[in-house]
Amino acid sequence: MTATTPLVVAVDGPAGSGKSSVSRAAASRLGFDFLDTGAAYRALTWLALERGTDVTDTDAVIALVDDLAYRTIPTPGGTVVSVGDTDVTAAIREPRVTAVVSDVARIPEVRTRLTEMFRAMIAATRETGIVVEGRDITTVVAPDAAVRILLTADEDVRIARRSRELTPENAASAAHLRERDQKDAAVVDFLTAAPGVTTLDSTDLDFEQTVNAVLDLVEAPR
Ligand code: C5P
Repeated sequence: MTATTPLVVAVDGPAGSGKSSVSRAAASRLGFDFLDTGAAYRALTWLALERGTDVTDTDAVIALVDDLAYRTIPTPGGTVVSVGDTDVTAAIREPRVTAVVSDVARIPEVRTRLTEMFRAMIAATRETGIVVEGRDITTVVAPDAAVRILLTADEDVRIARRSRELTPENAASAAHLRERDQKDAAVVDFLTAAPGVTTLDSTDLDFEQTVNAVLDLVEAPR
């Protein structure tokens, strides 16, 4: 029996573009798996903070990848993310993780190792397809994906969307979002579409319209 290769939908974009919730909704409507690659970078960052590892100590962070024991478990209430036996679903969204995740994600060997892990997770999907979202999916993780999308939105719209998702204490988010995008963009260019990648600008679209635009791209003849 030959295993069938899943149809891969790759979605990249900056923070606050809505790519996570849009990708998740699109995956659910298509009956596809969903892989949020940012969650793995966040989980590694969480582990570094938990162990008291200095995130600027490149070798120490690289060594932690061996201990990551990263798992995602789909449940009706959403994806549960665990590191070893610890459920880190909520912890990886804490501001202390968000504040330094870019420092972890800029280490080339970390990216290589996590990219290998993502490819293995894509290959292991039991569904007919998988939506994979991040910053370098269309270019590095799955450049051969059947559908490749760069989901963008104007910065003021992204900041407004992101601050709705955050608690008031964290609402000093505009500067943080800008800073994180700048740091991340220095590592991988997710602000301009690579050749063959479709730019989907959601500035003037609501959530439903954006999900439908993704579904249209998946269903378009190739
Ligand atoms: O998507 P999210 O905001 O959760 O991603 C968290 C961080 O993980 C990003 O700020 C970026 O530093 C890193 N990341 C990455 N490459 C990816 C996905 C996320 O560098 N494919």
